[in-house]
Amino acid sequence: MENVYDLVIVGAGPAGLAAGLYGSRAKLNTLIIEKDKTGGQIVITHEVANYPGSVQNATGPSLIARMVEQSDEFGAKRIKDTIEDVSLEGDIKILKGQKDEYRAKSVIIASGASPRKIGCPGEKELTGKGVSYCATCDADFFEDFEVFVVGGGDSALEEAMYLTKFARKVTIVHRRQGLRCAKSIEEKARANEKIEWMLDTVIEEIKGDGILESVVFKNTITGETNEYFADEEDGTMGVFVFVGLVSQTDVFKGKVNMSDQGYIITDAEMQTNIPGVYAAGDCRDKSLRQVVTAAADGAIAAVNADKYVGEKFSEKA
Ligand code: NAP
Repeated sequence: MENVYDLVIVGAGPAGLAAGLYGSRAKLNTLIIEKDKTGGQIVITHEVANYPGSVQNATGPSLIARMVEQSDEFGAKRIKDTIEDVSLEGDIKILKGQKDEYRAKSVIIASGASPRKIGCPGEKELTGKGVSYCATCDADFFEDFEVFVVGGGDSALEEAMYLTKFARKVTIVHRRQGLRCAKSIEEKARANEKIEWMLDTVIEEIKGDGILESVVFKNTITGETNEYFADEEDGTMGVFVFVGLVSQTDVFKGKVNMSDQGYIITDAEMQTNIPGVYAAGDCRDKSLRQVVTAAADGAIAAVNADKYVGEKFSEKA
């Protein structure tokens, strides 16, 4: 069949790249479509200490660079486009992008998740002007400044520790006493002298005229609020937000089964409710969202896509 890929993968994070590697290695004519930067969220992660076999001091970008090389080596094609509509029911799946239309015998959705916002007044207006979702990208703007890190999960604590290398003081702001992160990460953060804690606290408002100048905190137990102003000499401070993830699956809503939170439901073979359509990585409904589980999902999905294409179509395109 002309102009029909054996496999189209939506998303070039660890799940999509692993699927690209396994798909192209199985000699499927494979295309990976990415709307943004190759690598997904892991490229904004400073240190990756828990991907088995990764070299010491491995960073998100270094790990992704190697995954891209491997996927390219086996012949997976990569392009940049944003998918805006899909038709997945037929034998030939159609994905409509901003630039082009793509046809495929099988599809792997590896569209990932993105940082959740606090949702308070001022957050949007001051993003990039004091509010950030990426310590690796923005930490050096806050050399010797004061920063607040919002969240109590693995990301918040790990990124807070990274920020202590730059900021004068790092305060973790978390809405309850108990932390969600792994115990080992909590112990390291608790031992870090540059980290202070504001527990039972949320941010109600972020204020500033073109640059972040003050933050209104609210105690979740007493309901008391107080406005904290940046040191006069500094003129500003940082708020880094790590309050979890939201799935990036809008374009697939109503096309494949999803959980109430918008994560795609699959079986253990990464198969969705639509034959020939698989999901892998952070966009999938699952309990552990890590690089290692994303890569594993991608491999399983591609192996099953290969079986599906082999059984459904007599010869590969
Ligand atoms: P997460 O584990 O979902 O934690 C989100 C944190 O933000 C929680 O502490 C939550 O509070 C808080 N939160 C949620 N909504 C909030 C709001 N509106 N206002 C204030 N606080 C809010 O998210 P994550 O830390 O980004 O991690 C995502 C996934 O990646 C997890 O599976 C995590 O294990 C994984 N990860 C792993 C590593 C690692 O292993 N090294 C590193 C980074 C991320 P509550 O606790 O009260 O709900």
